[in-house]
Amino acid sequence: MATPQLRNYIDGRWVEAASRETFEDLDPATGEVIATVARSSGPDVDRAVESARRALDAWRLYPAPKRGEILYRAGETMLRRKEELAREMTREMGKVIAEARGDVQEGIDMTYYIAGEGRRQFGDVVPAELPNKWAMSTRSPVGVVAAITPWNFPLAIPTWKIMPALILGNTVVFKPASYTPLLAVRLVEILEEAGLPKGVLNLVLGPGGDLGDHLVSHPGVDLISFTGSSDTGSHIGEIGGRLLKRVSCELGGKNAIVVLDDADVDLALDGIVWSAFGTSGQRCTAASRVIAHKGVAGDLIGKLVGRAKKLRLGSGLEPTTDVGPVVSSSQLERVHSYIPIAEKEGATVAVGGHIPREGALAKGFFHEPTVLVDVKPNMRVAQEEIFGPVTAVIEVSGIDEAIKVLNSTKYGLSCSIYTRNVNNAFRFMRDAETGIVYVNAGTIGAEIQLPFGGMKATGNGHREAGRAALEVYSEWKSIYVDYSGKLQRAQMDNGEGGKTAL
Ligand code: NAD
Repeated sequence: MATPQLRNYIDGRWVEAASRETFEDLDPATGEVIATVARSSGPDVDRAVESARRALDAWRLYPAPKRGEILYRAGETMLRRKEELAREMTREMGKVIAEARGDVQEGIDMTYYIAGEGRRQFGDVVPAELPNKWAMSTRSPVGVVAAITPWNFPLAIPTWKIMPALILGNTVVFKPASYTPLLAVRLVEILEEAGLPKGVLNLVLGPGGDLGDHLVSHPGVDLISFTGSSDTGSHIGEIGGRLLKRVSCELGGKNAIVVLDDADVDLALDGIVWSAFGTSGQRCTAASRVIAHKGVAGDLIGKLVGRAKKLRLGSGLEPTTDVGPVVSSSQLERVHSYIPIAEKEGATVAVGGHIPREGALAKGFFHEPTVLVDVKPNMRVAQEEIFGPVTAVIEVSGIDEAIKVLNSTKYGLSCSIYTRNVNNAFRFMRDAETGIVYVNAGTIGAEIQLPFGGMKATGNGHREAGRAALEVYSEWKSIYVDYSGKLQRAQMDNGEGGKTAL
């Protein structure tokens, strides 16, 4: 079968990159080429932004409930094609098939949820302080949105950005990660089939770098919605800030699970294994730290090592696989580089730590699930995002120290606590410096109807999903209508001491 060619989507047409250059999309479980992909550059971005700008007026004026109908149809198609999309996702970025289905489901949930906003998008109607005057606020679109996404949730994260942007009347230039162009193409095809008018959503494929810089600094882009690493986010924020664009950044994490000495250790263990090794540790909310009370640490570590040893590495399409590959050879090297870093600083590898070099696994980008012990809070493995199947256990003496260690990294995305003590649980909920907190559950598994995002270096104050997403993609407009037929001056003509003459 011929290798599929993935192209850009600009002004309603599927087109080659202006340069005609391509790059390869690889299956991380086998290293096989699954598609060749348009390698875009500045001229492609220019066309995509021009197309989005041209489409803006008509789309902005298209009734929001009708925009919602298009989204509903897209959601229906995703649901119908869920299995096919999940299989393609596993081939393209490696996550095990059950998790790929979850990723698609999250995209469906987000699409349905946001489609309903076509009939809501509530503003306020409030009393005016002067007689015969009307006061209200409404939302209007920001304009052209650059949606820049990572590879770890190749369908869900694009829907978190594209769907709210569209329902509020913005038009979009979508730049997915270069490791997951296939799922990006599928999402655009689905929206095209659902009836999205040409130019409203444009797709530009290719690695970040120059292409990304061109998009972010383009004068025709009003809002940059970025999810990815903190380094890239800070670079984008700098450019966007200088140009006074709205920039929403969802960035890295160094999430921790706290296990107190009154916890149900076996329940905590399930949460740790799932949160540390699910998606091969490549979730922004992955538990890359375990903060264990000394009273339970020995038992917990022993059991965790036993569980990690039993996890089966393999292709995510095999039903027996627990942990798939990481996304690329460079990511594999990056993850693995933390093993000698940890050992040099005095940590011990309790299990894992290797790249399998024999048999079928040697063809793909696999890393053994790894547990590091003897870890101190200031070590690099306890501070830096590894983004692979590696977790570091830090021992503490109680809730105070646990919270201190939890908050000692620059990140603030997700955390969890296992305890049966309600007072400790509430203290933790209050004092954790993270945007997401779990009690007696792992650090992963957010639902789309609540805000998603983090504090500190995890972002710049915005949130995705839930009602919070509407804030990113809309401008507030406050409108006053004076139907008194005379000049009325706010704060001046409403009477002495605030008393209006009746
Ligand atoms: P990345 O920063 O390398 O890339 C993200 C996207 O930015 C890609 O599309 C990439 O091509 C693009 N890009 C790269 N350089 C650019 C530039 N100069 N200008 C514009 N775009 C540019 O991140 P990644 O490796 O794809 O993803 C992993 C990271 O994403 C991890 O740090 C993870 O924690 C984070 N993440 C965060 C969340 C969250 O919601 N907080 C969710 C998922 C992933």
